[in-house]
Amino acid sequence: MIEENFVVPGDMLGVIEEFIPSDNTYTHSGAVRAKIVGRPDVDINKHEASVVRAKEVPVPREGDVVQAVVTLVRDAVVHVDIFYNETRRTAYAIPFRGVIHISEASNERLRSFYDIFGYGDVVRARVLTGKPPYMLSTRGPDYGLIVARCPRCMALLKKKGLWLYCSNCRKTFRKRKVSRLYMMR
Ligand SMILES: [Zn+2]
Repeated sequence: MIEENFVVPGDMLGVIEEFIPSDNTYTHSGAVRAKIVGRPDVDINKHEASVVRAKEVPVPREGDVVQAVVTLVRDAVVHVDIFYNETRRTAYAIPFRGVIHISEASNERLRSFYDIFGYGDVVRARVLTGKPPYMLSTRGPDYGLIVARCPRCMALLKKKGLWLYCSNCRKTFRKRKVSRLYMMR
C-alpha cells in the first residue's frame, strides 16, 4: 500500500509495469494516475490500482438543524454563514450562505431584524430549503440566538430570564430572538 490516504487528479498510484489501472484512474507517462479526488486503493496481490471517491461533504438538507454566524442585517432579511450542521455533525470549513426572512424569524410578527440579531451573533436555525440559497427559520423556542454580543461594548451577552443582559453596560436587550439553548448564562 502507498502511504497517502488522499489523492487528487494526476497523482501517481503506481507504474504500469506493476499495476493495472482500475476504477477512477488513467495511465499517463508509464504511470497509473488518479482521475478523481479520493482515497487510493492499491491492491498489491491483484496488481490493481483504483481510487475510491471521497465522501462528499453532507450539504445542508431540508429539516437539518444548523448553527450560523450573522453576516448581514437588513429590515427584512439577515444573511448568515452556516458553519456547523448539528443533524449531520459536520463542521463546514467553507461555510454555506444562508438567508432568514423576517417572517421566519419568530412566531411573533416582527417588523425589522435590527435589534433582533446583530453582526457576528450565532444563531441556531432549521433549514427550510435544501439547496442554495439556503432559507432558514429561527421560529420556535429552540431556535434563535445561542451566542450574542453587546452592540456597544462587544462583550458576550448573558441570558437573564427571558432576556439578554450586558454586565458591562448594565443594559438589558428585550427584543432579541433568543433560543432556550443560549450558551452564556
Ligand atoms: Zn455592553
